[in-house]
Amino acid sequence: MVIVMEETATPEQISSVIDKLVRLGFDVHRSTGVVHTVLGAVGGRIIDHRDIELLDGVKEVLRISAPYKLASRAFKPEGTRIKIKDVTIGGTDVVMMAGPCTVESRDQVMTIAEVVSRNGASVLRGGAFKPRTSPYSFQGLGEEGLKYLKQAADRFDMLVVSEVMEPSQIPLFIRYVDILQIGARNMQNFNLLREVGRLDKPILLKRGPSATIEETLLAAEYIMSGGNHDIMICERGIRTFEPYLRNTFDISAIPVFKKLSHLPVVADPSHATGRRDKVPPVAQAAVAAGADGLLIEVHNDPENALCDGAQSLLPEQFEQLTARLRLIAQAVDRRMSSGVAEASLSK
Ligand code: PEP
Ligand code: MN
Repeated sequence: MVIVMEETATPEQISSVIDKLVRLGFDVHRSTGVVHTVLGAVGGRIIDHRDIELLDGVKEVLRISAPYKLASRAFKPEGTRIKIKDVTIGGTDVVMMAGPCTVESRDQVMTIAEVVSRNGASVLRGGAFKPRTSPYSFQGLGEEGLKYLKQAADRFDMLVVSEVMEPSQIPLFIRYVDILQIGARNMQNFNLLREVGRLDKPILLKRGPSATIEETLLAAEYIMSGGNHDIMICERGIRTFEPYLRNTFDISAIPVFKKLSHLPVVADPSHATGRRDKVPPVAQAAVAAGADGLLIEVHNDPENALCDGAQSLLPEQFEQLTARLRLIAQAVDRRMSSGVAEASLSK
């Protein structure tokens, strides 16, 4: 932290700021310029910098280190690779996670799992407990939904990612899923973050619709401080003044997350855009921008889907997209995860 004193700060005010910083455990380095005295404070405990800003004679306080430590790039400069069975997230491969918004029936999940797995998805997504904006909307099949996901994933040799909404559901999730998703609405549910921090299971942490990049990394820090370091950050669009699409996809957040943190970054163009015609271009841009994975909603009968049909790709659109993504991944020295079918671009 750097404290710039006012031009008019008295020697007493400067000493009083130094005393306060020392009491807080900081080593203070003083530099007296022609106009301003500048204090460099190193170490110490985490404080609210406004407490220093309010002291008499202080002009401004500049924070120089990030408030998150374990999640910062400096903690693991080489980057985190999360290995689950034969899938690695955060390596050269761009991992495709795909499936319906919500599990509706065994047949529906089986049909979609077959399509997405044939086109290279190695992780099957699907909600069994749904955080719906309206209490009257379909809330998910619960445990039955998790069972169907697991059965389909086993049949097609895939992993399962599904959203856990509260700590009491964790034991159930441990039995059926490989990656626990923390939904955007729960990004700052600190009890839930602490509970999943105790697990030995990877977490897909979605950025909240109005969360800053720093708040998202602090949410990851909550999980990591409990011992669980296998976290993927998911950019799924944020709420801005632009109403045209469901959310505004923050493409620049991908390189920023990757610079600030060592955690793999997954992009969700489905919730970001809310419309299936906009999903492919945003997915392509996300891979070009450095995403380590994609989370995409696919439905065999989107017109009758119980949730998010409008943003779900049809099977043939998914196939077409994965073919294009292979080219884009190659152009940025990446590879779509293995098993991607040789779908034709001309279709
Ligand atoms: C989801 O992935 O099903 C979901 C509800 O996403 P989000 O939390 O990003 O809205
Ligand atoms: Mn959805």
